[in-house]
Formats: sequence, C-alpha cells, structure tokens
Amino acid sequence: MTAAPESVRLFQTHEMESLRRDRRLDPQVFRKLRNDLLKKFESDEAVSMKYPVAEGIELHSLNLYQRMDSEIDGATKLLFETESGMLIESVILRIATGRTTLCVSSQIGCAAACDFCATGKMGIAKNLATEEILDQVVQAGQILRGEDRRLSNIVFMGMGEPLHNEVNVTEAIELLTAPDHFARSPSTVLVSTVGVPAGMLRLAKRFPNLNLALSLHSADQTTREKIIPLGKKASLTQLHDTIDEIQSIQDREFMIEYLMLRDVNDSTEDANRLIDWIGDLRVHVNLIPYNTIEASPHLHASPRPVIESFADILKASGLKTTVRYSLGNDIEAACGQLIRQENRQRAMQARRAESDSDSHVGFLDVRQVVDGLESQKNK
Ligand code: SF4
Repeated sequence: MTAAPESVRLFQTHEMESLRRDRRLDPQVFRKLRNDLLKKFESDEAVSMKYPVAEGIELHSLNLYQRMDSEIDGATKLLFETESGMLIESVILRIATGRTTLCVSSQIGCAAACDFCATGKMGIAKNLATEEILDQVVQAGQILRGEDRRLSNIVFMGMGEPLHNEVNVTEAIELLTAPDHFARSPSTVLVSTVGVPAGMLRLAKRFPNLNLALSLHSADQTTREKIIPLGKKASLTQLHDTIDEIQSIQDREFMIEYLMLRDVNDSTEDANRLIDWIGDLRVHVNLIPYNTIEASPHLHASPRPVIESFADILKASGLKTTVRYSLGNDIEAACGQLIRQENRQRAMQARRAESDSDSHVGFLDVRQVVDGLESQKNK
C-alpha cells in the first residue's frame, strides 16, 4: 500500500481519497468540507475550525498578491500569484441589479496577441492548471460571502484564450457544474473566445446549456485580422458556420462581443456589414467601449455618440443589442500595466533560471505558440 502524501490539494481527488483512507476518515467529512468551501464559500478559518481533520489539505493554489477596489463603481480586481511566480487577474463586478459576476483568467499571457489587449502584448503564454482556474472562484466567492453577496455568474473573459487551454478549462467547467463540487448551473457560466471553431463545437456539445461568446470586433476579414492576428486561422465564414452548427445543438442565444474602436470598426458601413454577417443567427450583440492601453497608442475609443448610433443601426435591423458600460475604469490601466511589466520581468528571470539549471517552467514565446497552433491545425 502506498503511503498518503503529507500534503494534498483540494482538487486532487485521488490524493484526497488516499489521505482519507490513511486517516480512516468517514467519506462524508470531505464531502461536507467541499460543500462548505465550494458551494457556501465559507472562510478558511471557519473550514479549518470545523474540520480539524483537514490539516494537511491545501485549500488554495493561488496567493492573493494585491486587491484593487474601484473608487467609482463596484469593481474589484484581484491579482493572484501562481505557483510559477507569475501574476494573473480576476475581476469581481458588482452590478447595480445586485447580481455579481466574476471574470476569471485561463492563461498567463495569451498567444492570440490581439492588438487592443494588454494581455496579448505580454509576449508570453502559459496555461493555468484547472485548480488555478477554480481557486479564482473560491477566493472571490469567499470575499463576496464576507459582504453577504452571492456569486451569480462566472465568465471566462480574463487573461488568456480559454480554448487554447481547452483541457483544463473543460475540466474546470466540469467541476464548477459537478454536484459534489461547486454544483452551479452551466447557464451561469460563459466562455468567450476569439474564435477556435473546433473547440467551440466541442464545448457546446459537452455543455449544451453553457453560454458562449465570440469576440468578433469586426465583420470585415482584413480589419479583423489586423486587430486579432489569430483571426487568420478561422475565416468569418467558418465562424458563422460554426455558430450556426452550435445553434443546432444549443437552444440559446449566442453572444457577439464587439469592441468599439474609433475609425477602425465603428462606421455605418461596419454596422451594416455586421448585420449581413449575422444573418439569421440568434445572437445578442454587446458593444464594448474601449479602454486605451499604453502598448497600442494608435487605437482609440469610439466617441459615445458614435457607439449610440452604431447600436441604433443594429437595433433598427431587429438585433438585440446592448452597449456595455465598463466597470473599474480607474483600476484597469494601473493593473494592466503592473501585470504586463511584472510578468515580462518574471518570465525573463524564469527563462534565465531555466537555461542555468535545465529545469523547465514552460513559458512559451507567443510566436512559438501561434506556430504550434498553426501546425496542429494543418494536421
Ligand atoms: S484572446 Fe483575449 S486575452 Fe488573448 S489577446 Fe485577445 S483579448 Fe487578450
């Protein structure tokens, strides 16, 4: 018989079971512990007091590095340090209706390299482990419980392209919806992608009630490729057909995200092109005001009246359209900059340590990742 490890992590099911057997514990103990932590988001102190047998179980895989609360609205940005020493962010959005949404990250950096995004400009990419994705939910849930709030929705719209980390993101959604873990409805979870057709289809088949969103940002192929380099991998026709196929599997509206960029994608012609591209897909269009980033001084936000008239054109054609108000504008810039600079430095140090010691921490240059995706696609 193999000895149980001295310390195990909450989401390591086999190791947890081995620990339970080793300590001859009632199987109900860990079930109750998971209920209290993952469904009720009780604090670590409460859990440790209630379950002294949990000694040796690591409840978290992320270290809360910094918390930034917006002074103008109900947004809180949480910067977490991963085991590899890099920073990721999660954002709690407290919406006026009383609902609370958590935006989680799925990667450190991102290979999609979108021109308008601070994460895409980091120049590195590394997948988060399933437990690192889930711990963002646990720690945010605990913060909200301390405020007597409930976490309503979870959106994969933070750092990273979720479908470049498909295995871990899928496993995270499995556990978020599993009755013996978080027991959430898939309809409270949304995955947003810049467009990985095969992965989108797999997710829709596996979770027919999951919400999916496409960050479209332009219905013109050339413009889209300019602002989303990964747009070269999937044509607009292919993306349209993919959503069409998803809608034969899922009985729900598909979200289209459209970032409003001045003189790039915000003209009347652009609006009409978008209407044509959508055709008879059942979608909800979210128009997103842009927050400028230092790394892309050539991109600017569309003025408010331009966004409003763009929305009016879509609405007049019968499309459900919402202009999203971005929350946390005051913490956005500071945080994006901090993470970008810190992570670039930390990745460089990790690479140096890697070449000195032969160890592999696994940070990839974005170009390597994009090339890798390309060769996978061509198989
Ligand atoms: S896919 Fe998302 S995280 Fe990645 S570069 Fe584009 S916008 Fe940024």
